[in-house]
Amino acid sequence: MNIHEYQGKEILKSFGVRVQEGIVVDTPEEAVEAAKKMKEDFGSDWVVVKAQIHAGGRGKGGGVKLAKNLDEVKQRATDIIGMQLVTPQTGPEGKKVNKVLIAQDVYYPGESETKEFYVSVLLNRSTGRNIIMYSTEGGMDIEEVAEKTPHLIFKEEIDPKVGLQPFQARKIAFNLGTSGNAFKEMVKFITALYKAYDAIDASMFEINPVLKTSDDKILAVDAKVNLDENALYRHPDIAAMRDITEEDPTEVEAGESNLNYVKLDGNVGCMVNGAGLAMATMDIIKLAGGDPANFLDVGGTANAQTVKAAFNIILKDPNVKAILINIFGGIVRCDRVAQGVIDAYQEIGDIKVPIIVRLQGTNAEEAKKLIDESGLKVYSAILLKEAADLVSKVIA
Ligand code: GDP
Ligand code: MN
Repeated sequence: MNIHEYQGKEILKSFGVRVQEGIVVDTPEEAVEAAKKMKEDFGSDWVVVKAQIHAGGRGKGGGVKLAKNLDEVKQRATDIIGMQLVTPQTGPEGKKVNKVLIAQDVYYPGESETKEFYVSVLLNRSTGRNIIMYSTEGGMDIEEVAEKTPHLIFKEEIDPKVGLQPFQARKIAFNLGTSGNAFKEMVKFITALYKAYDAIDASMFEINPVLKTSDDKILAVDAKVNLDENALYRHPDIAAMRDITEEDPTEVEAGESNLNYVKLDGNVGCMVNGAGLAMATMDIIKLAGGDPANFLDVGGTANAQTVKAAFNIILKDPNVKAILINIFGGIVRCDRVAQGVIDAYQEIGDIKVPIIVRLQGTNAEEAKKLIDESGLKVYSAILLKEAADLVSKVIA
C-alpha cells in the first residue's frame, strides 16, 4: 500500500525526523488560510503548493509550485487542485489531484548553501536485509543519476540481528559530505528514518530530497512510502491512511470480493485458484500464443459467488478475447465449481468471449460432463495441454 507525502511526513515527524512542515487542504480558500497559518507558526512568507498523488516526479509535471504571496497561493492551488497531473511515473493518462500540501519554503538563502541529498531505506530481497541507499546527487534527477553515474549511489546494508549501528549512520553522514551541525543532524536523521521504516513495517521509505538548509538543518522535503500489506493488521492507524481514490478501481473491487487480482495488458483473461497455479496458467497462455490479461487468484473456495465476481471483473477489460478458467479441485469439488461457472454465466448473460474451463481433481469427469451438457459457449478440458490448444484455437 502507498500513502501520500503528507502522511509519510506525519509518520516521520512522530519518529523525531525533521520535515518540511505543511498543511494539507482540498480547496483554494483553505490553501490561503493554511498559508496564513504557516506564516504564524513558522514565519514562512513563501510557501510551496504540492500536489498530493500516489506518484513521484510531481515537480517535473508541474505539480509543485512556489507561491510568494497569498494571491499566488490561491492561483497555484486553483491551478493544481482538480488537474490531471502527468508525471514520468503516472503514465500518459495522469492522475487527478484532489489535495494539495501547503508547505513552508525551505530553500531560503542564508549563511551557507542549500544542498539536496537522496536517502532511502528498502529491502534487498537477494540478501534478505534492509539497505540504506544514499547519494549526494539528490533532487529531481535521481533516476538519471542511477542510470548514468551509478557509482554516485551508495548502499549500506543492515544486519537484522543488531539493527542500524551508530557507526553506520556516521559513515553515511560523512560520505554525504556533511560537517559540523549538519553532520550531527544527518546522523540523527538517518537513525530516526531507519527506526520509522522498521517500526511501521515499510518495504520502502524514500526521501528525495533530504535538504541541508542554508542554516545547516537537515530535513525531509519529500516522503515516498510503500507499506507491506501483510503487516498492515499490526498498524490500524496506518491502514486508515489508505486512499482508495488513488488505486485502480477494478483492483479495489476485486479486493472487496477477496480476489487477488492484478490487471495486465494481454488478451486472455484467466481465473485460477492458487497463486502458483495462476503463474503456471499465465505461462500456458503465453505458450499457446496469447498474452495474459490479468493475474487472478480466486483463493481456496471457488463458488458461484466468487466465480461471478471474477467474471465481472475480467469482462470489464475490453482487451479480453477469451477467458481460461483453471481450477484444481482439491478441497473444493470440481462439479461444484462447474455448477458455479454455469450459474454465473447464466446470471451475467450475454458473455461474448469464448470460455475455456479446465477442471482437474476431485470429480473432474462429472464437472466436464456438466459443462459439456450445459449448452453454453464454454469449452471444457481436463489436461492443461488441451486447455492450451483450445486457447490457441479461439484467439487465432
Ligand atoms: P517530486 O517531484 O514528486 O519528487 O516532489 P518533491 O517534493 O521532491 O519536490 C520537487 C522539487 O520541488 C524539489 O526537488 C525541489 O527542487 C522543489 N521544492 C520542494 N520544496 C521546495 C521549497 O520549499 N522551496 C523551493 N524553492 N523549492 C522546493
Ligand atoms: Mn521528490
